[in-house]
Amino acid sequence: MSESAVRPDRIDATFLKSAPSLAECPQDALPEVAFAGRSNAGKSSVLNQVTGNRRLARASKTPGRTQLLNFFATPLGGRLVDLPGYGYAKAAKAQQQAWRTHVERYLSHRVNLVALVLVMDIRHPFEPFDRFIVDWARSAHLPLHILLNKADKLRHGARVNALREATRSIAGGGISIQLFSAETGLGREELIDRLCVWLVPPTREGG
Ligand code: GDP
Repeated sequence: MSESAVRPDRIDATFLKSAPSLAECPQDALPEVAFAGRSNAGKSSVLNQVTGNRRLARASKTPGRTQLLNFFATPLGGRLVDLPGYGYAKAAKAQQQAWRTHVERYLSHRVNLVALVLVMDIRHPFEPFDRFIVDWARSAHLPLHILLNKADKLRHGARVNALREATRSIAGGGISIQLFSAETGLGREELIDRLCVWLVPPTREGG
């Protein structure tokens, strides 16, 4: 975000639609930032925290919508996309494969996807699913912003160590990492700043 810009207090998002497939995603060129995370990492809580809308991610958790791509419009122009939560470790292999195929299709073919936000539980970072997202973002050269969520669950020293460790192993080359707590709001300004950059549609030079 530029120094002169005023950071909004929240990203005021409203539910737009759910899409079961790429073909049913909104048909325009507005930028999209997709949120990914393992079930229970706190993806819904993070979305609630940055949008200030407690009902928002509940829309994604409505029965029948959990396996869909859920789109939210923002006043910045671009959209937030809530990707289906990746199942619990015990989920059947076939189910995990189905998730992967579905989300991979969106990630690989959605031309207006400008960045990914990966929500991880700071106490269990870089599980295989997270690695899949990191590797994918790297190979696609797509900016990736990682939230070490539930930072409130750790003491200050442990938090700082977790951030340092994660940064050392993964940051750079388009990947950034920050501490976050959907519970306390820790880190929300940093995330809002990122979203403000990504969600504004590019202006056309020369009209
Ligand atoms: P999702 O499955 O990734 O969408 O996860 P939810 O947002 O439903 O959160 C899973 C659980 O973790 C819920 O009980 C939340 O209240 C809790 N939770 C999420 N974020 C935080 C956080 O930052 N701190 C703490 N202490 N709990 C959190």
